[in-house]
Amino acid sequence: MEKGRTELRNVGEFGLIDRIRHVVDFRADDATLHENLRLGIGDDTAAFRPTPGKLQLLTTDAMVEGIHFDLTFTSLRHLGWKAIVSNISDIAAMQGTPRYATVVVSLPRKISVEMVEELYRGIAFACQKYACLVVGGDTTTTFGNMAVAVAMTGEVEENAMVSRSGAEVGDMLCVTGQLGAAHAGLKILLREKERFSKAANPEDHAPNLEPYKATLERYFMPKPRLDLSRVFAEKVKIHAMIDISDGLASEVYHLCTASHAGAEVWEHNLPVENTTRSVAAEFSESVYDYALYGGEEYELLFAIGDEDFKKLERVTGDVTAVGRIVDKDKGINLVRENGKHEALREKGWDHFGGG
Ligand code: ADP
Ligand code: MG
Repeated sequence: MEKGRTELRNVGEFGLIDRIRHVVDFRADDATLHENLRLGIGDDTAAFRPTPGKLQLLTTDAMVEGIHFDLTFTSLRHLGWKAIVSNISDIAAMQGTPRYATVVVSLPRKISVEMVEELYRGIAFACQKYACLVVGGDTTTTFGNMAVAVAMTGEVEENAMVSRSGAEVGDMLCVTGQLGAAHAGLKILLREKERFSKAANPEDHAPNLEPYKATLERYFMPKPRLDLSRVFAEKVKIHAMIDISDGLASEVYHLCTASHAGAEVWEHNLPVENTTRSVAAEFSESVYDYALYGGEEYELLFAIGDEDFKKLERVTGDVTAVGRIVDKDKGINLVRENGKHEALREKGWDHFGGG
């Protein structure tokens, strides 16, 4: 047996839950999370008091090995981080605040108790950072791949909630942050995995990943934009918003469909970092395709009036206008640098491992 490897069957389900409970037992900065929680891990359900007057949000997101993550290059801590932040990102997109989470894990035999603890360290780290508590979950074994699913509640003032459906013709279409970096990171990882598997001898393949450090971090530890969604709530009126978990293009489609509107997206305005540009160049691919079709970004796409956009630009440098909402009949178009309009492709590649 490997050193430090405890088989799941040796501790049993309840032993495992006990170890999980220890890892997620931290004190959150927001004391109301603890005050309003009546029952956490250990009973048939969790029980908590909602904040009076607030709307309750509930979201869930699952991640499956081989579809959303590859354990040959993803650490369990990073996986735990991502499983939490993908839910937080959904709550940020509603302009809400995360509160409580439950976590379902399906564990194949290759996963040890220590690996589950690592997963929950990543979960606890993200929960502590964004002020959210793990209050329950479920544990199963599987003969197939590993899976992690998180359900999360959030809260929002009724009049502050932003859905996908309020975009108005003439609105600016904007994004937070920089796009395409997570996809660039994944491209590098898949390339090195392939090179490694083809090397006759592992010593023949010693990649220098130093130049890609920032890009890889964007893949492993994406940051949900709760920070900016709070600035928005305070300073402006967002008409419609969605988080970018599946590439900008498909989110533009979702937002426009819900808002019964069309859009133009200005390719040359898409915000991309130089490091992302150079990765795309290495692969002889378009960096704009990374921005439009790369997943797991967790930035926000939103529609906002001109005046409010100007106001927002004065308080943060981290938002970019990438297009406009137009009449539904005009469709959804990409405007190239040379001014040519073409229908925006909705999907580039699917999930993990495509491209
Ligand atoms: P039940 O049989 O009622 O579903 P379980 O034995 O599955 O109860 O779970 C016991 C307690 O441990 C519950 O509070 C449950 O929410 C919690 N729990 C179970 N699995 C996990 C997990 N993977 N992560 C966090 N909490 C868990
Ligand atoms: Mg159960």
